[in-house]
Amino acid sequence: MELQIEQVSKNYGAKHALSGITLKLKPGVTGLLGPNGAGKSTLMRMLATIEKPTHGSITWNGVDIAGKPQVLRKELGYLPQDFGVYPNLTPLEFLEYIAAMKGLSPRYARTRINELLEILNLSNDRKRLLGGFSGGMRQRVGIAQALLNDPSLLIVDEPTVGLDPGERIGFRNLLSSLSGDRIIILSTHIVTDIESIAPSIALMAKGRLVKYAAPENLLQSV
Ligand code: ADP
Ligand code: ADP
Repeated sequence: MELQIEQVSKNYGAKHALSGITLKLKPGVTGLLGPNGAGKSTLMRMLATIEKPTHGSITWNGVDIAGKPQVLRKELGYLPQDFGVYPNLTPLEFLEYIAAMKGLSPRYARTRINELLEILNLSNDRKRLLGGFSGGMRQRVGIAQALLNDPSLLIVDEPTVGLDPGERIGFRNLLSSLSGDRIIILSTHIVTDIESIAPSIALMAKGRLVKYAAPENLLQSV
């Protein structure tokens, strides 16, 4: 399994949001670290095939995926930074809807949804309307939808925003419990969020990749 990002740039009009990003990712957790505006979300949208790079290529096991959501549909899990829930659905209804959109069989979906609601401590609230959920509960629903298809490529953008300390620990444990045989990319602007779970960190600033290193080597010779 390999995700290859080659000379990827993204412009929005005159704004260079990303410039010449080259990165080859293997199974395991990679943290994308950088201040607000560094280009983390932009890069993640490219990897999640929501947007197409202006220049450069993105390949998944050698197959070009840039701007092609259909290629990765079954293998991708994505939690966008601006994840929003439908307030008039219950978690159960919302997750069933996402499962159908991803083309999962109803039988697999039912089992998987129950399992994820249990893991994310949402079972007791599965029939309540999402509109009444706290920020942390909504974020847990977002994590559940990203994990529905047991993705081999998991992209989570600032997943711990809105989580309380207990939920953060729960999320960290959940990530560590996922098998190593998948590529997980996780963005944050807080280094302590990821140093214990990401063996590799890509440090970004101003649309560029500044360094790609293990957390303990990150601050050397930046
Ligand atoms: P981060 O996720 O690291 O905070 P972003 O990827 O959101 O950074 O943003 C990188 C830069 O690109 C910022 O300067 C932002 O204003 C700009 N940008 C992102 N998306 C758009 C867009 N849709 N249109 C114009 N500028 C954008
Ligand atoms: P919205 O339009 O409300 O943002 P969508 O219906 O496009 O939502 O998608 C719902 C959720 O499904 C999104 O939050 C996103 O995380 C996830 N999603 C969308 N497209 C894909 C995809 N190709 N693969 C995996 N998950 C996806």
